[in-house]
Amino acid sequence: MALQGGFIEHIRHLQSLEADAFEIRKKTDLHREMDGLILPGGESTTMGILLKESDMFDELKLKIDSGMPVFGTCAGLILLAHKIAGTEITYFASMDIVAKRNAYGRQLGSFYTEAELKGIGIIPMVFIRAPYIESAGESVEILSVVNDRIVAAREKNILVTSYHPELTSDNRVHQYFLKMIT
Ligand code: GLN
Repeated sequence: MALQGGFIEHIRHLQSLEADAFEIRKKTDLHREMDGLILPGGESTTMGILLKESDMFDELKLKIDSGMPVFGTCAGLILLAHKIAGTEITYFASMDIVAKRNAYGRQLGSFYTEAELKGIGIIPMVFIRAPYIESAGESVEILSVVNDRIVAAREKNILVTSYHPELTSDNRVHQYFLKMIT
């Protein structure tokens, strides 16, 4: 999804794994054949508005809810959450998680760490004004926990990370996502 935010880095990671990737900027782009979708980091409120203005929201929600593999990083996680703490606003609401926006406050707004992603191992994690997952339903598999907070999870066709694997040189999370597709 290339309406806003950090999509270029995702495309580079996909290309480094020899996957074909293209930018979705307008409704007609949705009619190209696609096997998966990445919702990048950026600003979830802006991205939500742009998704509706460009008239792509309903079609995308249908694709996601019909099982198309989706990977949401940071703002993308917020867009996929069934509930966003402290507000009644939701976007795709396709994953049974409660997301807390800008959850680390100003002091620790952005940070780097290395921690485990279940199924992969220790990976580098870049957090930028990141959300975390406040709670998750029973069908959600928790993949990463950092400082007692859930920061990566999967439910069926949906993978989310609070952090930005696309901003590191490690492409194993994208490889994991490609495996979800194939
Ligand atoms: N704080 C942003 C939001 O709430 C997310 C930040 C990011 O994607 N790096 O949308």
